[in-house]
Amino acid sequence: MKTYRIAVIPGDGIGKEVVPAAIKVLDQAALLDGRFQFEWTTFPWGCEYYLETGKMMPDNGIELLKQYDQIFLGAVGMPNLVPDHVSLWGLLIKIRRELQQSINVRPAKLLQGLPSPLRQPNGFDFIVVRENSEGEYAESGGRIHSGQDEVAIQNAVFTRKGTERAMRYAFELAKTRNGHVTSATKSNGITYSMPFWDEVFAQVGKEYEEVGQASNHIDALAAFLVMKPENFDVIVASNLFGDILTDLGGAIMGSIGIAPAANLNIEGQYPSMFEPVHGSAPDIAGQGIANPIGQIWTGKMMLDFLGYQDMGTRILDAIEQTLAQDIKTPDLGGTATLQEVTDAIINYLT
Ligand code: ATP
Ligand code: MG
Repeated sequence: MKTYRIAVIPGDGIGKEVVPAAIKVLDQAALLDGRFQFEWTTFPWGCEYYLETGKMMPDNGIELLKQYDQIFLGAVGMPNLVPDHVSLWGLLIKIRRELQQSINVRPAKLLQGLPSPLRQPNGFDFIVVRENSEGEYAESGGRIHSGQDEVAIQNAVFTRKGTERAMRYAFELAKTRNGHVTSATKSNGITYSMPFWDEVFAQVGKEYEEVGQASNHIDALAAFLVMKPENFDVIVASNLFGDILTDLGGAIMGSIGIAPAANLNIEGQYPSMFEPVHGSAPDIAGQGIANPIGQIWTGKMMLDFLGYQDMGTRILDAIEQTLAQDIKTPDLGGTATLQEVTDAIINYLT
């Protein structure tokens, strides 16, 4: 039997509640499957660790993480006690950058038993592939002059290597799905980076003639995702555009509490990191009512990445059966607890 060593960082707030719930589901999946098992090692890093030690994670944290197959993360943040830039740059962004997790993948799918706020009759099922390491979030720029003459300059950095990598991942993913890729662009307003983005999309697209291809400006694309989300399969986007589109995806699914995500090191030299879209939700932490579905679906993405897509599908089926029975946490309009939702998913997992 294959054993996967997983580094677990529950983090803060509801991360500490939803991660153990998802681990229970994944252990049950492993038991049912019989081909693999998980060995979980928990690291108590995050904002509490910061308040005690002055650091979000120890200095050798990245080296420790490199020894594991994958990383399973809850959420990090205590907005009242630790400034966001400290918690983000001290842990999340540090791990994403140093372990070269250059692709961020976020599915948005209308689950059975869940009406979207849009009440789409045709449902939808698309995945955003976001470039996760450069683009508009490159740390390049500065401020010059002062007073009324002050100028802030922020450079976007698009490398051919990074852009091609995102495009190629999107096309390969589309081949395993409905065979269509939409590129998010804005080459009518952004005059250097986005025309380059379009060029690379067209060029990589030539290698994938069997895959349908379209290009939409980001403003129109945002509107289409609300009006006609069923038209999309895979969307490839830069760091900033992908960030915005994936929050939109979470919203039209019905709750940010169910939205899954993965930060992938597709070259495989370092572990990838699986973390849901939502944060530490301090407003509901400690009450046992957080929705565990985002973290559990994120665990399904880890199984998919490890090559157990069949078991991943069975987890998603169990989630949908639970929702169809109206077993829902308050964020979805229900009255069930985190424990009740988790138990129901384990019960439906066969
Ligand atoms: P952070 O700074 O950690 O990113 P945030 O405040 O920016 O946190 P979230 O923690 O995602 O963002 O919270 C946004 C809103 O969504 C909050 O009202 C929170 O209660 C709700 N929410 C987030 N995750 C869940 C969940 N799993 N179940 C229920 N509600 C959730
Ligand atoms: Mg946040």
